[in-house]
Amino acid sequence: MKVPSCNYCDHPAAWMRPWDKTPLCIMHFNKGFLKRVQKTINKYNMLKRNDVIAIGLSGGKDSVVMMDVMAKLQKDFPTELIAISIDEGIENYRADGLKYAKMAAERAEVDHQIFSFKETFGYDLDEALIVLGENRMAPCSYCGPFRRNLLNQAAREVGATKLVTGHNADDEAQTMMMNMMRGNLLKTLHGNPEPTFKDEAFVNRVKPFRRTTEQEIVLYANLNDLPYQEMSCPHATEAYRGKIRDILTDMMQEDPAVIFSIINSADSLFSLADKVPDTINYDGDDQLFECEICGEPTNNTRCNTCKLKNEIDQAAMSKP
Ligand code: SF4
Repeated sequence: MKVPSCNYCDHPAAWMRPWDKTPLCIMHFNKGFLKRVQKTINKYNMLKRNDVIAIGLSGGKDSVVMMDVMAKLQKDFPTELIAISIDEGIENYRADGLKYAKMAAERAEVDHQIFSFKETFGYDLDEALIVLGENRMAPCSYCGPFRRNLLNQAAREVGATKLVTGHNADDEAQTMMMNMMRGNLLKTLHGNPEPTFKDEAFVNRVKPFRRTTEQEIVLYANLNDLPYQEMSCPHATEAYRGKIRDILTDMMQEDPAVIFSIINSADSLFSLADKVPDTINYDGDDQLFECEICGEPTNNTRCNTCKLKNEIDQAAMSKP
């Protein structure tokens, strides 16, 4: 079969952009990829000149590609980059991810720091699950809040003014669908992608891949020889998200741009956010308080991490 030429030069196409059927060679794919990330950053005012940017680097495809892209964009947009990785303590998984994270940071010539659950909270995730026993919630219900808490602490500790995560357009569209199907539209309404928190204890998170698809990220990694961890976390059991992913994959066969339509719908809601109290995320108030135990920012008197840690401590004390 004859390979079509790139839409912008005579080189053979490496990819056909699914939503407008544009054939692109490697060079023009890479150029377009970087351009769209930059446009996303600008569209949502995600970064400012001279920001100190912590990049959450797990070693998976999204974060490894983000590391590479941010290092390239930094050449025209002066910022300082620091890679931070979280070691949850998950056997046969995290050490492998940290290996790829280290390679990605070295390749980008960026300082890399690792923060562990064990050192911060006193437990590895695996240990905590054993202590909690059979009546516990799903592993992600503990790991997720601990991870978010530690990412914030780590970002603050390295002096970051922004925390960049690798969530991509597929993740964003899935989350929006899940919010809607669970009756949590307010979460989407108040999930503005612009960095809006003024409290210095909370490092604003931004997602420059909000308009970049998973397919593009995998292709970018492969075309640019960026090795990443392919193995999934052994505890990943978010069945509901998997179902939504399958629905979206199916819909994309007919309409490859459906993901962007969902994100555009969410974007059009943000202008209404001021008119509708946020009763889900912040009790109708975007003010954050200090947790009475650890001092981390929370919308309550005690943060979720301290509540969960207390549950683990209680379980540990009740062990013979
Ligand atoms: Fe943690 Fe769940 Fe993610 Fe595994 S899948 S790293 S347990 S949040």
